[in-house]
Amino acid sequence: MEDIKSLTIEELTSLMVSMGEKPFRARQVYSWMHKHLVSSYDQMSNLPKSLREKLSAWPLTVLEKLAVQVSSLDGTRKYLFRLSDGNVIESVLMRYQHGNSVCISSQAGCRMGCRFCASGIGGLVRSLTASEMLDQVYRIQEDTGERVSNVVVMGTGEPLDNYENLLRFIRILTGPEGLTISQRNITVSTCGLVPKIHDLAEEKLAITLAISLHAPNDEKRRELMPVANKYSIEELLDACRVYFEKTGRRITFEYSLVSGVNDREAEARELAGRIADLNCHVNLIPVNPVKERTYRRSLRPDVEKFKNILEKCGINVTIRREMGADIDGACGQLRRRYLEDDEIFRAEREKQHEGIFGY
Ligand code: SAH
Repeated sequence: MEDIKSLTIEELTSLMVSMGEKPFRARQVYSWMHKHLVSSYDQMSNLPKSLREKLSAWPLTVLEKLAVQVSSLDGTRKYLFRLSDGNVIESVLMRYQHGNSVCISSQAGCRMGCRFCASGIGGLVRSLTASEMLDQVYRIQEDTGERVSNVVVMGTGEPLDNYENLLRFIRILTGPEGLTISQRNITVSTCGLVPKIHDLAEEKLAITLAISLHAPNDEKRRELMPVANKYSIEELLDACRVYFEKTGRRITFEYSLVSGVNDREAEARELAGRIADLNCHVNLIPVNPVKERTYRRSLRPDVEKFKNILEKCGINVTIRREMGADIDGACGQLRRRYLEDDEIFRAEREKQHEGIFGY
């Protein structure tokens, strides 16, 4: 069955024409789905009933909101959605001064197996369709009634392991007749699938590429990230140089600081040396403890020291501001908790106390 919400406007037009419909009907259906964010064909009120009936042969992807956790500190909202096949995924809304940012998942589970990450613990279940990625943004905008201006593909999953659907998602999200979010306001985060970074560079998109680096050398990186056995840091940095040359977009390096593992002065110096020639920005993230893992987050003075060393070497650095600290747990933990303990989760949801799990 055609996933109608994953089609570009050109593809939808061909489909409608092949059904004997006028091309302008495609534009109407498309804007109902991608601009007005309706959740049923019945809401497409300017279509003849006969067309709505014909369309109903195609399932319309709409995520079901299972739960939302609301931070009382900063208004961050963490959503748990159910897909039509019963899989569950997480998305997060963060409210910043410059606008609302949504962090979406690109896969149910993940096969990259980074040691400090909760998302990979159960392995990859499947990649998400473009429509399932889009609908995370759409349902959150609908739920809050507030415009989403930034999207980060930094939730569960490796986006470059779902490359075709990711591109489709970006094109529909940023193209005409949809939410028309600026490409500059989209960030895609990858653990570093080098050949795909080269492919992405050729697309000449204006999105920001974030690279999960987490270590200054291959030996240390292999301890933390199995993907480092496949691609060396040198190959990865070369791909970043090419990406910058082709797109003019500054690379972001993410570096999760794990106490006593990758947060020492020598590591900061080594990192600075390796990326000094790159037009980049480093985002330091004190690692979020995951209950299944033993890693501890770096102490604040160590984080500051790491930052100062990079800065002295002329590198642009920020320490990621923690959002929703009261509802957090690391990325992917809400989903894990749901999968592990459906019963407890349900009971809590029924309590619906003070906004937490309330909807
Ligand atoms: N697969 C992609 C995107 C998802 S992870 C990637 O690897 O970039 C988003 C970011 O969160 C990555 O930088 C990831 O390494 C980091 N991350 C995962 N678990 C974390 C944890 N427990 N604490 C801090 N950062 C974590």
